[in-house]
Amino acid sequence: MTTHRVRAWDVAEGARRATEAFRAEFGAEPDGVWSAPGRVNLIGEHTDYNGGLCLPIDLPHRTYVAMARTAGDAIALASAQESSGGWRGALADVGPGRVPGWAAYVAGVAWSLAQDGATVGGFAAAVDSCVPYGAGLSSSAALESAVAVGLDELYGIGLADDDPGRARLAQACIRAENEIAGAMTGGMDQTSSLRASAGHALLYDTRDGSVRHLPFDLAAHGLALLVVDTKAPHQLADGQYANRRATCDAAAAHLGVATLREVDPAALDDALARLDAPLPLSGGGSAEPAVLRARVRHVVTEIARVEQFVELLQSDRVAEVGPLMDASHASLRDDYEVSCPELDATVEAARGAGALGARMTGGGFGGSAIALVPVDLVAAVTTAVEQSFADRGYAPPAFLVADAAGPAARDI
Ligand code: ADP
Ligand code: MG
Repeated sequence: MTTHRVRAWDVAEGARRATEAFRAEFGAEPDGVWSAPGRVNLIGEHTDYNGGLCLPIDLPHRTYVAMARTAGDAIALASAQESSGGWRGALADVGPGRVPGWAAYVAGVAWSLAQDGATVGGFAAAVDSCVPYGAGLSSSAALESAVAVGLDELYGIGLADDDPGRARLAQACIRAENEIAGAMTGGMDQTSSLRASAGHALLYDTRDGSVRHLPFDLAAHGLALLVVDTKAPHQLADGQYANRRATCDAAAAHLGVATLREVDPAALDDALARLDAPLPLSGGGSAEPAVLRARVRHVVTEIARVEQFVELLQSDRVAEVGPLMDASHASLRDDYEVSCPELDATVEAARGAGALGARMTGGGFGGSAIALVPVDLVAAVTTAVEQSFADRGYAPPAFLVADAAGPAARDI
């Protein structure tokens, strides 16, 4: 079996590729190249729209965007990942439902920066990326974030220079994805891509938008984080994501709290007992008590697991986080019901071959899983997952080893 590894380009390669794409598309030199990383969440899943905590790291895999400022408000876009073509338009044309396909993630950032009061105008951009697409590793936020820091510099907005400014850039990216690309997203992806730091996990508190940087050095403990892109198609994802959000909102309203973050884990049983009747969901349908309880139990216990994970990181006991990862997976599979057979097979095979813990990561219904693995067992765990997929007749997965890399920045 040939193992499919997703290689991360170094910055020089990424910048060269984006520059060459820019020259080929526009016959001119870019003003610069900016890039931003994909991310993988260590723990804290489906918490970001519940006022909760999550703990992503940035991947060494980045999206590179060569950009030039243009006169007027014309926008011209090309991407090496999208053979169907680029997009040409004007900033004045950008609005909800008005930009088709992938270009919405780029033009949408310019639009939302302008909505936020920044003076933004035309630009040309050529994109190339080594972030796996649609794998739950946040290629969309990588693209938005690279464009955001590029526009920030090209138009002298000055938000990329400090964390409060980057928080505003992240908000602009979230708005672009929600309102222009029309994709539901919490805030974890953009926050990680813009506000994390190399060598650290990012504790993101979605209740107040604050972040903390926690040293995350697996190599010092003889460990590695293996990311498995299951390649499972996730058709269900959008509708199920909207359903989970609506269910959490309905449960929070019934419990009289702004978000499920306000449910005290010590009083969880009392809260669950009060979810004793079906509740109507915004967007249609209703949720039965057993479902409401399961969803709330996941969110409240998952937030508590993030806190325990953070305590272990702070006391330099990262080798002990495995059981928290396993419990997170069980909760997402059984209570939140967002796993799928490929994700379950991955975590079982990884644990069977010596992973200290494993879980699905990202929204679920496909996408990726992570495993915490002693360095000398990475090859064995990889083979075990490949074998498990082959036995079940699944398409071969792809692998990468994730070090905590750095956030969106200018490259050249
Ligand atoms: P994920 O963020 O998990 O990779 P999403 O569905 O949120 O998956 O985002 C994937 C979409 O983002 C793609 O279908 C495309 O529209 C856009 N996108 C991401 N990266 C690029 C890129 N390099 N070039 C063009 N579009 C991209
Ligand atoms: Mg995305």
